Parts: sequence; structure tokens; C-alpha cells
Amino acid sequence: MNREKACELIIIGTGPAGLTASIYASRYGVKNIVLGELPGGQISESYLIDNYPGVEDISGADLAKKIFKHAQKYGAEIILSRVKKIKKNDNGFIVELDNEDKISGKALILATGSQRRRLGIPGESALQGKGVSYCATCDGFFYKERIVAVIGGSDSAAGAAAHLAGIAKKVYLIYRKKELRCEDYWKKILAKEKKIEIIFNTNVVEIVGAGRVEKIKTDTTERDKKEIVLDGVFVEIGADPDNWLARELGVALDEKGYIKVKKDGATKVVGVWAAGDGTNGSDKLKQIITATAEGAIAARSIADYLKKKKA
Ligand code: NDP
Repeated sequence: MNREKACELIIIGTGPAGLTASIYASRYGVKNIVLGELPGGQISESYLIDNYPGVEDISGADLAKKIFKHAQKYGAEIILSRVKKIKKNDNGFIVELDNEDKISGKALILATGSQRRRLGIPGESALQGKGVSYCATCDGFFYKERIVAVIGGSDSAAGAAAHLAGIAKKVYLIYRKKELRCEDYWKKILAKEKKIEIIFNTNVVEIVGAGRVEKIKTDTTERDKKEIVLDGVFVEIGADPDNWLARELGVALDEKGYIKVKKDGATKVVGVWAAGDGTNGSDKLKQIITATAEGAIAARSIADYLKKKKA
């Protein structure tokens, strides 16, 4: 049965930015509905969060649950369904969901985050779920005493390698440049971990296996061997903004596809704000703390906007 629901603010995105926007909006008395697919967003796949002030040593899944519950505590209505369509009209916006629900609202926050990058090499798609993974926290468990590789050289790759070292027999961390660019915090953890071997100046060019990952081929300039026999490949090479909804609405994007926002998160389209990893806000520092801050700032700006509209 399809339902039609009305609210003042539609928030698209159930990650830290969207849920924090909901917490603040609810506390400002703005009736909001949050739409998304993954409760808590991408952080729910992070192995360890240790830089969110006041919350030490927490798994991404646990922090995601806490933020989700916090939003519910203030009355957020959260609908877990994919957004299918979005339309702007004279009164605001109508969002159509995969479950056929229609949600209308006067203002909108896009907190749609980002989508994981893929290597785009032979074997990657065919062996996805058969040894190729994009989430060490979700799938690491299956590699007890096995040999795995993590591809990437920044914080996600380092976190994934550290997590997998606690499970697997051997972890190769394969990076295309000569020095990792993750935080020093992660570098120190990696240096202590004997099971991790870092291979620099190397790209993986093919993932090979008949029905399951068996080996990878590399273009390494540092080792003689151009093949590594292993059981799993974890691709941790970052993400690109997921902004198809912004494009539909005519919101301005920068050259890399990030939503251009003003200081208060407003976009160039009246009634549309954006927050979190998909924006060019916070000097593009993509952290939970910056996503939550952008969500809070956008909610306050919207509360003012709606008050002025009513006056
Ligand atoms: P990043 O964009 O920071 O890094 C992506 C990494 O993958 C880079 O090392 C990049 O190489 C490499 N890469 C990209 N494309 C390819 C490719 N086709 N083949 C091989 N390697 C490739 O992504 P992250 O997911 O690591 O981080 C995203 C954001 O989240 C960052 O702002 C990060 O700081 C933050 N984060 C913070 C954490 C923390 O503990 N504070 C934990 C996880 C994420 P190159 O360096 O050559 O560009």
C-alpha cells in the first residue's frame, strides 16, 4: 500500500550528517522525515572510530547505532527505502520511494554521502562477493588464518589492514605510491603489526580466480614477483560523492561532483541544503565530526528559513 506523508523537512541520508540534522531539526521543533537505506550510513562499516570526541574506541557499527537511536529519541521518523524520484513544486518537494511511499516537505537536506570507488580491473566485478570485498568490517571474519590484500594508501585502507591483521594469517597492503598518506595514528599501528607487509609503488592490474579469488596480478616496480597468491582482496580506495539527486534538482556541483554549499549548507536551489561527505563544505575534511557539524548547521538554517516563510 502506498502512503503519502507530509512534513516540514525531508532529510535524505541516514548517516551522521542526516541523522544529526534530524536531531537538531526536531529540537528546533521542525517536523522531519529521514530517508535512506543504510541505518547509520557508511560509518557502520568502519572497524574503529577513535577520533570522535568523547567517544573512545568504538566500532563504526556501534557509533552508527547510537546516532540512529539518538535521532529516534527526538522523534525522527526514519524510513529505510531507496529514493526513486524527486520533484520540486511551488510548495516544496515530493520524494517518491522504492516502496511507493510519497513524502512531501517544504525544505530538503541532501546528506547522501558517497559511493565506494572500484578499481575497474579485470576480475573485480566477477569475483565480488567471492573474495573481492569493499568492507573489511563486514567480511573480514571469513578470512581467519587466510591471506588477504588491502588496496589503497589512506585512512580506510590502513584501518582495514589493521582490522584484518587481527583475523588473517597475512595481510598485504598494496599502495600505488611510495609513502602511505594515512594519519600518523594509523602508520604507528601498521608498523607494530608483524602480519602486515606493505608493498609500495604497485597497482593491482587483475584479480584472478575460477569462482573464487585465487591470486592477483600487479605491475609492481619493487618486487620481482608480479603475482600474489591469496584468498581475499579488500578494495579501500576511497569514494566519490553520490549526488544524482542533486543533479536532478539542478544543484550546483564542483568539478569533482561535490555539492557546492554556502556557510550554512544552503545550495543555489531555494529550499535545498546539503551536508556531509557529498558537499564541498568543511574544507572537504571528510570526517564524522564535520558531517555532524554540517548537519547541525543546515538544520538551524532551515529552522530560520521555515520560520520566516510562516511569518
Ligand atoms: P581517500 O580518498 O582518502 O584515499 C583513497 C586511497 O586510495 C588513496 O591512497 C588513493 O591513492 C588510493 N586510490 C584511489 N584510487 C585508486 C585506484 N584506482 N587504484 C589504486 N589506489 C587508488 O579515501 P579513504 O576512504 O581512505 O578516506 C576517505 C575520507 O575519510 C578521508 O578524508 C579520510 O581521512 C576519512 N577517513 C578517516 C578515518 C580516520 O580514521 N580518521 C578512517 C577512514 C576514512 P593516492 O594516495 O595515490 O591518491
